[in-house]
Amino acid sequence: MISYRKELWFNTNNRREFINITHQVEACLRESGIEEGICLVNAMHITASIFINDDESGLHADFEQWLERLAPEKPHSQYRHNGYEDNADAHLKRQIMGREVVVAVTKGKLDFGTWEQIFYGEFDGKRKKRVLVKIIGE
Ligand code: ZN
Repeated sequence: MISYRKELWFNTNNRREFINITHQVEACLRESGIEEGICLVNAMHITASIFINDDESGLHADFEQWLERLAPEKPHSQYRHNGYEDNADAHLKRQIMGREVVVAVTKGKLDFGTWEQIFYGEFDGKRKKRVLVKIIGE
């Protein structure tokens, strides 16, 4: 069995962004040489997400609006977490959008459903953050 590990780094210009990282994960898979197995991708920060969905700008705008309705960034004083920080909304948004995805690896490819793409969801950006890619198989 082969075990492959890599960290991807992100530093967004905005507080909140969605970035399609599918090609970066596919590059990891090629580098691993694994043909059959499982690929895990997870955010290594509690204010960022990894999720799978459609790469469609309208949908991403809908995600942003929906998340802001559920957990508005401001006023900061509405959250008990914001005693020393101002990122309570980012923790809540991350919880909704998820920590990780697992994708099957079949014949050396990520075995996606139609339109599935992998995204990094940043909710408290403008600083360096990591994503872990772990692939195991043979
Ligand atoms: Zn915090």
